[in-house]
Amino acid sequence: MTYTIAVVGAGPSGLYATDALVSAGCTVDVIDRLPVPFGLVRYGVAPDHLSIRSVRDTLEKILERPGVTLLAGVEVGTDVTVVELLQAYDAVVLTYGASRDRRLDIGGEDLLGSVAATDLVAWYCGHPDADIEIIEDALDAATAAVVVGVGNVSVDVTRVLTAPRERLGSTDMPEHVLDALDRSGITDVHVLGRRGPAQATWTTKELKELGELEGVDVVVDPADLVLEPVSEALVAADRVVARNVEVIRGWAERGLTGAPRRIHLHFHSRPAEILGEGRMTGVVVERTTIDADGSANGTGETFQIPAQLAVRSVGYRGVALDAVPFDARRNVIPNVDGRVIEGDAAVAGLYVAGWIKRGPTGVIGTNKKDASATVDSLLADLEGTPARGGSGIAPVLRERGVQVVGFEGWRAIDAAERALGESRGRVRTTLHDRHTLMAAAKADGSSAP
Ligand code: NAP
Repeated sequence: MTYTIAVVGAGPSGLYATDALVSAGCTVDVIDRLPVPFGLVRYGVAPDHLSIRSVRDTLEKILERPGVTLLAGVEVGTDVTVVELLQAYDAVVLTYGASRDRRLDIGGEDLLGSVAATDLVAWYCGHPDADIEIIEDALDAATAAVVVGVGNVSVDVTRVLTAPRERLGSTDMPEHVLDALDRSGITDVHVLGRRGPAQATWTTKELKELGELEGVDVVVDPADLVLEPVSEALVAADRVVARNVEVIRGWAERGLTGAPRRIHLHFHSRPAEILGEGRMTGVVVERTTIDADGSANGTGETFQIPAQLAVRSVGYRGVALDAVPFDARRNVIPNVDGRVIEGDAAVAGLYVAGWIKRGPTGVIGTNKKDASATVDSLLADLEGTPARGGSGIAPVLRERGVQVVGFEGWRAIDAAERALGESRGRVRTTLHDRHTLMAAAKADGSSAP
């Protein structure tokens, strides 16, 4: 008899784990809280990054493999507990990612206009939980924006806020998103890096795109390119860092063309306060210096940037799941080689992969190796034990009246999105509200697995 495994999370790490499990002869139920699969490939990767988004095709093939059942629209912790999953399967792999934002913990962070990158990204990707009103209100009020953080999410957000309509118009962004970006009067986006250009975590390909946007100048302060010894050492040791600094130097040398929109890069600059009453009006920025160990220190010297939108793009954060051990300092599930541990002991049958295992780092491909390492641990533990049998959790969900979207339901959503896109001259338009997604899933009457 084959082992039956539950994978919680239908994003890249969950589906890569599924692939490895099925290849080893297991059957897998893939559970996701959203009514659609693909996690951050659908709701994180920027819609204009078509080649990265095409990973979806590879992930979809995994869902089509014999032995895989999609149970989408099922929230673990609400519709079913982890304990119930552990009783119903031979093992459970948690791959539910890191969906929350990290905060800056500065004054004014909750003023209108101050938003998390996670929320802005959810909005432009058409996530069903996105707060459309809050984001569009902030966008409508803004002519200048501050984006805090210099990682790849910061690059995505900055590009989406400044890109010409032609770049975004052919993507799968929902119509209300395209309309809001079209209306947007933002001319200046200020990107804040609390350390120097050598310490930024963006990758060169993504960074370069900022300098290739039609109608956008990149403004660089040459003083930021005078590197201290610790940064010089980084440039000498790391080719990616060297290339990033070279790209930024190129922009400083290129100068300005008088383009209608500008991206201003401010390094050695960290936000100290968001100004305003009710609605934000600007950001107080403190200048920093870098220590010999590479960390940023405030100098007490400040300047102000008038802005009506602030986007904190300072990383994602995993959240705890009922009855599952959690490391609240690192915001991950404690584990050794993917085995969830409580104290020194492994929790029988419980595993983790992806961002909730190691934190929000790496590109999509990183999750393949990570998931396969977890599956190796799981298979080694199961070796020689009898398979439990049974039909997983689907019958319980049916009994509880949970509206489950199976693979055919996803296919129906996919068809509806393609049809909507085609009607507007695009390949696809994302259906963004849960009700519409569920209605589309049921359109062919086969949403229940
Ligand atoms: P990230 O790479 O960790 O960047 C976070 C940024 O926030 C860093 O610049 C960090 O600076 C800064 N930061 C953190 N706390 C701060 C604070 N209190 N004040 C000011 N700045 C602060 O994270 P991310 O951009 O969210 O990306 C997450 C992961 O997804 C990354 O692995 C990324 O490569 C990946 N991703 C990839 C793509 C792509 O391949 N196209 C697109 C999006 C995301 P310090 O370094 O000084 O801490």
